[in-house]
Amino acid sequence: MRNEFLPFTKPVVTDNDIQEVVGVLKSGWLTNGPKNAEFEEELCKYTGSKHGVSLASATGCMHVLLKALGIGPGDEVITPSLTWVSTTNLICLSGATPVFADIDRDTMLVTPETIETCITERTKAIIPVHYTGAPVDLDAIQAIADKHGIPIIEDAAHALGTYYKGRHIGQGNSTIYSFHAIKNITCGEGGMIATDDDELLKKIKMYKFHGLGIDAFDRQNKGRSPQAEVIEPGYKYNLTDICAALGLSQLRRIDEINAKRTALAMKYRELLADVDNILPLSDPTGYDFKHAWHLFVVRVDSDKISRDDFMVKLKEKNIGSGIHFRANHLQKYYRENMGFKPGMLPATEWNSDRICSLPLFPAMTEDDVQDVVTAIKEVMANV
Ligand SMILES: *Cc1c(COP(=O)(O)O)cnc(C)c1O
Repeated sequence: MRNEFLPFTKPVVTDNDIQEVVGVLKSGWLTNGPKNAEFEEELCKYTGSKHGVSLASATGCMHVLLKALGIGPGDEVITPSLTWVSTTNLICLSGATPVFADIDRDTMLVTPETIETCITERTKAIIPVHYTGAPVDLDAIQAIADKHGIPIIEDAAHALGTYYKGRHIGQGNSTIYSFHAIKNITCGEGGMIATDDDELLKKIKMYKFHGLGIDAFDRQNKGRSPQAEVIEPGYKYNLTDICAALGLSQLRRIDEINAKRTALAMKYRELLADVDNILPLSDPTGYDFKHAWHLFVVRVDSDKISRDDFMVKLKEKNIGSGIHFRANHLQKYYRENMGFKPGMLPATEWNSDRICSLPLFPAMTEDDVQDVVTAIKEVMANV
């Protein structure tokens, strides 16, 4: 057994990352400023989007974007139930109704077919998730959205470095990236909206910062225009330059980080191939893609041991793990207030009861992967 606990994830912060942050601390400008501008530009260069706006979290990005798209009471928004609760919460907080599309049982991605069955006259947005860093079938989902004139918001919290048919995901649609501490690159906390839509960009910038219609940092004046006035009430979600400097420094290593994650994921696949009742996700089929490997998820599918007990047993063997995610529609508030019941989303519920994210972070070694699989085999041999 391992002597040292292997956590499910651990951020990698290099000396250079630290120097970049120290540089900001010494610069005399700590809040949203030149480092944010550079971070936005560099991210767009990487993803091929036209505009980027960095915010304090991806949750903040979703809040601002739903507002900028004018989503409110009477509207419906389609998203998978197997996503982080922030999306469902914000749909509800906007006054709109979440409508959950089921997922493919093997890839855990929402499909064009399940999305199409959810569309009504009230549908005002579709929010697919590139779950674990594998892309949804964007062209097919786009065709459905275009047919009905509904905007897509791509949840790319797992998907910086994910490519679909040879291009980075997110091009053309408004797309949300997260830089929370567990994501492929981090600011500590942070997020970014990437969009090609000039009009939407103006609204995003306005709602992001008090409704003033300007950033904290006017790029010409190197300070805030004292004449700015409220155009419409807005929020305050700007990212500090302290955080942006960390994100920017990490962004420069994204391909290296994802290559390391990919190698570890391939090792898991190889070593788990002959382990019964532990089922890794399948790759999507029918299109060419590149995976960002944010998570390595397996399904514990055994009538001898539950997923929860499996996680406890792994922890006893010094292996950490996580659950991404519990189906939203069966959580207390949504069950009790929105009439969601077990049985509504069969593939989502089947997975929600079985999924477990194994340790995956760039500082891990292939020996660590071997330790995890050895521990899994021991747990499963003794049920
Ligand atoms: C992490 C995550 C978010 C939210 O990101 P924050 O930056 O923590 O607000 C949204 N969606 C998914 C799928 C996520 O994993």
